[in-house]
Amino acid sequence: MSEPSIFTRILRGEIPSEIIAETENVFAIRDIAPRAPVHLLVIPKSEQYRNVVDLAAGDPALMAEIVALAQHLAAEHADGEFRLTFNTGSGAGQTVFHVHAHVLAGGLTEGSLGG
Ligand code: 5GP
Repeated sequence: MSEPSIFTRILRGEIPSEIIAETENVFAIRDIAPRAPVHLLVIPKSEQYRNVVDLAAGDPALMAEIVALAQHLAAEHADGEFRLTFNTGSGAGQTVFHVHAHVLAGGLTEGSLGG
């Protein structure tokens, strides 16, 4: 088995980070290096899927759950409008290979395009 991802370790409480929302299958935290006034991460509790392509093919309902929680959080933390980014592959900026959505909101600039 490979090492647990940083997000699994956060979920287990091994690395401190406030879990700001959760459902049966997904949870959300604040990004440690925010690139927008509101920059949250919505993450499946399972690290079974490495990226959004695998997730969408393997479990579309879980993908929909991520989008729904993103919308809920954007309404709670900003005005309900948001950008949803899934960096896919290291060349696109993905650093954690446990699929996660960046939820960017609260006054976006071009600088926050990358998630
Ligand atoms: P990626 O680059 O894979 O699309 O996104 C990973 C994100 O996780 C980055 O935006 C990074 O700032 C965030 N991140 C990495 N380590 C931690 C951590 O320990 N705590 C939190 N809250 N965010 C983290």
